[in-house]
Amino acid sequence: MDLRELAVRQVRGVGPRKAEDLKALGIESAYDLLEYFPYRYEDYHIRDLAGVKDGEKITIEGTVYGVPLVQMYGRKKSRLACKVLVDQVVITAVWFNRHFIKDQLTSGTRIVLTGKWEQARLQITVSEHEFPDRGGASRTGTLQPVYSVAGPITQNWLRKAIRQVLAEYGQWVEEILPEELVARYRFISRREAFSLIHQPKDWEEGRKARRRIVYEELFLFQLKMQAFRALNRGKSDGIAHPVDSQAVKQFVRSLPFVLTDSQKTVVAEILQDLKQPYAMNRLLQGDVGSGKTVVAAVALFAVVKAGAQGALMVPTEILAEQHKRSLEKMFASYGIEVTLLTGSLTEKQRREALASIQMGLTDIVVGTHALIQEDVVFRRLGLVITDEQHRFGVNQRSILRRKGLNPDVLTMTATPIPRTLAITAFGDMDVSTLKELPKGRKPIKTYSVPHDMLERVLRFIRKEAAAGRQAYVICPLIEESDKLDVQNAIDVHAQLTYHFPDLSVGLLHGRMSNQEKEQVMAEFSDNRIQVLVSTTVVEVGVDVPNATLMVVYDAVRFGLSQLHQLRGRVGRGEHQSYCILIADPKNEVSRERLKVMTETNDGFEIARRDLEIRGPGDFFGTKQSGLPEFKVADLMSDYEILEYAREDAAKLVAQSEFWTAARYLPLRDYLQREQVFGGRPFD
Ligand code: ADP
Ligand code: MG
Repeated sequence: MDLRELAVRQVRGVGPRKAEDLKALGIESAYDLLEYFPYRYEDYHIRDLAGVKDGEKITIEGTVYGVPLVQMYGRKKSRLACKVLVDQVVITAVWFNRHFIKDQLTSGTRIVLTGKWEQARLQITVSEHEFPDRGGASRTGTLQPVYSVAGPITQNWLRKAIRQVLAEYGQWVEEILPEELVARYRFISRREAFSLIHQPKDWEEGRKARRRIVYEELFLFQLKMQAFRALNRGKSDGIAHPVDSQAVKQFVRSLPFVLTDSQKTVVAEILQDLKQPYAMNRLLQGDVGSGKTVVAAVALFAVVKAGAQGALMVPTEILAEQHKRSLEKMFASYGIEVTLLTGSLTEKQRREALASIQMGLTDIVVGTHALIQEDVVFRRLGLVITDEQHRFGVNQRSILRRKGLNPDVLTMTATPIPRTLAITAFGDMDVSTLKELPKGRKPIKTYSVPHDMLERVLRFIRKEAAAGRQAYVICPLIEESDKLDVQNAIDVHAQLTYHFPDLSVGLLHGRMSNQEKEQVMAEFSDNRIQVLVSTTVVEVGVDVPNATLMVVYDAVRFGLSQLHQLRGRVGRGEHQSYCILIADPKNEVSRERLKVMTETNDGFEIARRDLEIRGPGDFFGTKQSGLPEFKVADLMSDYEILEYAREDAAKLVAQSEFWTAARYLPLRDYLQREQVFGGRPFD
């Protein structure tokens, strides 16, 4: 029986109404229900009172002692208290709003209580209780799975439904891993794992089931990636750009600086890819300020000189403008035509741009992501580069493929993903890393100061301006809010304009028109504005090397990676740069986070510390980062298993029996279901 084909309605106890509710959770087949794994367990094993910590949720057993006492508050609210004897200790059990159980609490009755323990008062606030002598189903002594539920589906209903589907159909769960792997890792069978992960007898069983399921999940993911690569390797459906190495070398020599060793290595990797007849799919990661733009420029240059067009996609209009300007500067003497394509073009400008792209008069298009989504027709699109990829959250490659294009793709990001993790997770991508900053950069000095030191901060801004430098002042809000007591850009701009009558103070925020934004950015770029008061619209990519001071108001309102990005706007030239975080942290976590900023400039280190402080889970902001999501596996904590899974998958697809032998049929079926053979598993 194929449980995937079996509608969830066929499970006893699931009616049409519940089937609809389950659908909202993504559960449609009996198999989906089996695969709806718990994310934690609730422990109903009976504990000794000794060793219980204050505030812990525990299950204890005792006997009712004395008479229960009920206090009513109004009609519905009540507090029921009753003494219970537990291991020679008299404790108080308290129920809220359930006074009706009073009658069952006769002295001497055995009772099991689950709830939150308060050490000082020897009191338990009961959330669940059972009477062990009255028979019936019992939770006591078990681990209960906790599922993510929503809407009309309750925890208890789902537990029952899953117990039911296991009982009815559990025996139809079939093994998918090859015997050799099951044996090597001493895994329990798939059938057993599915049963135990939902109903473990103890923690050990839960761990055994989880270990097996995590491996399987990561292994299948890797297998999909690797099989896809194996099948498509050598498939020459990409463009083999006839790169003119001499011309590229000459272009690199014409740049105002020497490439760093990292930049050289990465450029070589990319050029190599461009020459190959298959489509490049490469991730370029490098911390803020590591010089990704120039790498993009060299790649674009190579492609254009080889007769194709290039596209550079960025998340904001400000960045599009900036990239266009710097590309034009670099390409000035090469007759390369750069066109801007953003939402703020007039209808006429837009029509002209589109025509020029279609006719091939434009060599390079710089724009926001409308660039590849709308009906922009290229004459010969050879390379697409996405800057600040983590801001997009869409896979532009699949959009391109759907448009029937197959250009080389380079994705750039500063989101610090440890390199190994990136490679392993993006099994279908090659990864290049810029490991160093350009020479001569001085580490940015970061300080965290309270609001009442504002006077000194302002004196510091004046000092930098007097030395010919420029400053950013970042505010969390655009304008005053009645809900939040934080600084807003419009007020701060007014204050600073008043405070610095002799300086030019600019204002930038997301509600200004594109033209206004562009104007302000251009003036800041040319040092006609010395102090730029802005919201986080400048967070990514903005490059004004003469700016040396980044002041962030209400710094606790920003995430660590955001602060790191903002700080990355300075320290881009030869001058010593500073970052001042103004904040009065109210709790330990905020204090800790600001401390991290003052202690390190390293994006990877910041990501690591952030993870420590926050705990795993939203480290990557998984949805945004484009990293795959798993049902049970956690990329961070299950990293080691991921490594094994990757290796095993690679070995397997390299064997010719994998593609023919009967024992691998379940895996090939899986690949079939995932459309790996159709060639587009990642669309
Ligand atoms: P990011 O990686 O954050 O996008 P950019 O590409 O904007 O960094 O580069 C940051 C600054 O460093 C820019 O002003 C750029 O011109 C400069 N830069 C890039 N590469 C080098 C280099 N090899 N030597 C000196 N300066 C460089
Ligand atoms: Mg950049």
